[in-house]
Amino acid sequence: MYQALYRVWRPKKFSDMVGQEHIVRTLLNQVSTGRIAHAYLFCGSRGTGKTSAAKIMSRAINCENPQNGDPCGECGSCRMIESDTSFDVYEMDAASNSRVEEIRELLEKVDYPPQFGKYKVYIIDEVHMLSNSAFNALLKTLEEPPEYMVFILATTEPQKLPSTILSRCQRYDFGRFTESQIAGHLKKVARESGVDAEEDALALIARAAEGGMRDALSILDMCMGGGEKVTEENVRSVLGAADRAFLFQFCDALAEKEGGEALRLIDKIMMDGRDVQVFLKDLSAHLRLLMAARLCGADEKIPGLGGAYGKRYVAQADKFSHERLLRALDLCTRAEADTRWAASARSVLEVFALRVCEQPEERDYEALLERISELEMKISELEKRGVAAPALQGNDFEVKVPKRSERPAAQPIVETAVPDGAKPPKDVWNEALKYLKRNAPMVFAPLNQGKYGGYRDGVYQAVFGKESELFVTMLATEDRRRQVEDALNRCGGVNARFEPVLAQPAPDPQKQQTAESHVDALVEMFGRDKIQVDE
Ligand SMILES: [Zn+2]
Repeated sequence: MYQALYRVWRPKKFSDMVGQEHIVRTLLNQVSTGRIAHAYLFCGSRGTGKTSAAKIMSRAINCENPQNGDPCGECGSCRMIESDTSFDVYEMDAASNSRVEEIRELLEKVDYPPQFGKYKVYIIDEVHMLSNSAFNALLKTLEEPPEYMVFILATTEPQKLPSTILSRCQRYDFGRFTESQIAGHLKKVARESGVDAEEDALALIARAAEGGMRDALSILDMCMGGGEKVTEENVRSVLGAADRAFLFQFCDALAEKEGGEALRLIDKIMMDGRDVQVFLKDLSAHLRLLMAARLCGADEKIPGLGGAYGKRYVAQADKFSHERLLRALDLCTRAEADTRWAASARSVLEVFALRVCEQPEERDYEALLERISELEMKISELEKRGVAAPALQGNDFEVKVPKRSERPAAQPIVETAVPDGAKPPKDVWNEALKYLKRNAPMVFAPLNQGKYGGYRDGVYQAVFGKESELFVTMLATEDRRRQVEDALNRCGGVNARFEPVLAQPAPDPQKQQTAESHVDALVEMFGRDKIQVDE
């Protein structure tokens, strides 16, 4: 059975531990002299050996035949604890058992003396996660513990512990490992696993692990996956995958509008000493892939969307409404440019994240579209679940329409007459849209971002705003254009041709006309009393 390297290489004795010399020396000394405290607090960032030390301690103080303070690893007690079958040692993760009931259940067993060994040991990991009442329950036991009771509390955030708990523990601070300590250990692990590893590759892992041995071993684990030589290039590609995982995490926060989480991740970027401009560039590439995934699905032909990641991009893209994704991409491009002159690149990134997370104010047209497309998503989700969309009531939905002069609008071409008896072009267009929605959603999606732009001499136009240039390019391909034309012909068009165009930026008297019709459309959708036009 496969076991992660960090488990295989978890030290079994104090003398096997890398670094943390002063802690190791003190604990060895305590075990040999039998001066065991009732409560220990092991503090330090992840992967610094706290849990390993706690496990070794639990065996050492119960060992029938300790070797200078180290557990022998062979006696009955050592073996029972090692195989997790001992009733004298309990391990609890406070992160998933933070409630008072859970800690009470554990503390109820304190009254029963150890069955096999000399001490009963409770190891509570991530102890700062306990609730206040759980801390109080724990405190009562810590105040008057039975003679045989030993608590080992481990935490990455000691500042979150109540001082009443802190004052009852012997505290040990586990420092981060140095790069050379990590590289040295990795070298030993690789050698004993029979894997060839370049020195530079191991140094690179040591740097990336930032003082955490578990991360270092996990990265080495991934690099050793194929059983080939561990090279610098190999490490770089594995680390690149970790970067990609971070981008997914960051975009999840944006998609769920969790501004706090986004800020926390930005803080991590800064702590890691990463370049904000480089990050924004990566992020912008990620958002572009999401957009492509949304429109084309996991298309193997699009670089970046093939292979294992394609589906993940599609799934993440689905968490955004179309308008929000566009807006995020747009804001990201602007933030990228802003970092070039801004005094604080960090605040540019933070403002970017918060703007993507905020509820859009219905001030501008794009935000309005965004709200509408989000509502559409929600309604279609409800429909999928078989729930009918409730009628809008009272003031639960209010839309403010932007000033007339600010409203962007398409410029329709001049319509020409159609032969008598032929279907009006607008009707043909609308039916073709419905047809495509059912039969060619990948063509419908970009097409639906534009508007009907008019009909002349057999040509149907769709007009797109400046921000939708991408869709014009997409729809202009032979293949997609033909699909639209085919749909138009099916729905009553005759030798129909299709042309996607960009809206003209210059103001035009017809613009107001079209903007007016947007208001009309909104009034039709939401009712006169829900629409307020700011003049
Ligand atoms: Zn033993």
